Amino acid sequence: MKKYDFIIAGGGMSGLSLAYYLTQSPLRNRSILILDRDQKNRNDRTWSFWEDGAGPFESIMFRKWNTVSFHGTTHAGLLDMGSYQYKMLRGIDFYTFMDAELAKFSNIERKQATINRIADSPQGGFVIADDEPYIANYVFDSTFALNLGQPQNHNLLQHFKGWVVEAENPCFNPEQPEIMDFRVDQHGDCRFVYVMPFDANTALIEFTLFNDKLLTDAEYDADIRQYISRFINTGTYQIRETEFGVIPMSDVKTKENPSQHIVRIGTSGGYTKASTGYTFQRTQQYLRDIVHNLTKTGKPTRQQSWFSGRFKLYDSVLLNVLENKRHPADDVFTRFYARNKPVNAFRFLDEKTRFSDELRFFSTYPWWPFTVAFFDVMRRKMLG
Ligand SMILES: Cc1cc2nc3c(=O)[nH]c(=O)nc-3n(C[C@H](O)[C@H](O)[C@H](O)COP(=O)(O)OP(=O)(O)OC[C@H]3O[C@@H](n4cnc5c(N)ncnc54)[C@H](O)[C@@H]3O)c2cc1C
Repeated sequence: MKKYDFIIAGGGMSGLSLAYYLTQSPLRNRSILILDRDQKNRNDRTWSFWEDGAGPFESIMFRKWNTVSFHGTTHAGLLDMGSYQYKMLRGIDFYTFMDAELAKFSNIERKQATINRIADSPQGGFVIADDEPYIANYVFDSTFALNLGQPQNHNLLQHFKGWVVEAENPCFNPEQPEIMDFRVDQHGDCRFVYVMPFDANTALIEFTLFNDKLLTDAEYDADIRQYISRFINTGTYQIRETEFGVIPMSDVKTKENPSQHIVRIGTSGGYTKASTGYTFQRTQQYLRDIVHNLTKTGKPTRQQSWFSGRFKLYDSVLLNVLENKRHPADDVFTRFYARNKPVNAFRFLDEKTRFSDELRFFSTYPWWPFTVAFFDVMRRKMLG
């Protein structure tokens, strides 16, 4: 049996990004097998994220914005992103780009197969896909399903349905995406809409909830329809595309390096930020770190300082506030964006702030619900 240097189990966002970073590194000639059950030839998702400067996928970015709009409870207006840009990347553009880039390397094989098992052995990482065994020095796994729903963790879901709407009237401002619009009934949850304009007549309108119960398809549709009729002067409109997604917002303990030859990446590796669901940019950063270490030391582990673990604690506290409904979510997010400089808010979400900056952030939150949440998180940690 051929032994690969690397098997990438799951060729989605993280798997393809990892393969791409390997091709951009001194490891570009290593043998790589990418396994995925799908062809990845549909626009199955759109990634939005913010970035400081140009990134590796700049040439395929669908839209970029310097300012974004926010509608909260006591504040509405534009947020100046400073040196950041808010960016939008369509899944299909990413997959097509990766097809072309990876095809340049004859040492990269791609197979469409369903993975049944991934296991470690003294000889390397094993993968069984469509009953065929494969082995490699390292298996990078983005197919592992997280063990969500355990009572000692916080387990919210970020779920959303979006419509790409083509309107009769030029009702969208192409320069201004709406990142959070809380002018929708909260029903005691955290519910908001975001609007990503493609041009004056076309936009992705996405209704988003943070809670633990999915809605029916008809309920998401009714909420999007109501939002459009209340706030956007579309005239008649056509729905050109739809998108639905569920992202775990959980502080479940994840294992990026479960055993010697297996590394979990992407959502499986715990790369999703628990309090926001944002995954794309963190995945890019973490994978670049992995490739860097693999090149330097031969080992695909990421170095993490213990002090950076404080951001996980902050995430748990916010999840605790939301899950236990200790304070209205729309007010929490309004305070976050209205009382802090937006650029600092984005830096905080990127986990790139100093502790002194973070204390300043916390002083803008309602102190009692967050203090109760903090002690509840500590209690759970001691019990767990
Ligand atoms: C609709 C949607 C919109 C999102 N929008 C954003 C956003 O705007 N910003 C953001 O930061 N994050 C967003 N996310 C979250 C996150 O960025 C994406 O889920 C991202 O694709 C996660 O990357 P991944 O590699 O972990 O998983 P995936 O991209 O899902 O890749 C996993 C791959 O494994 C394959 N696979 C799984 N099981 C098997 C198996 N048994 N055998 C073979 N193949 C298998 C799948 O086919 C898939 O291709 C979104 C998620 C969804 C679902």
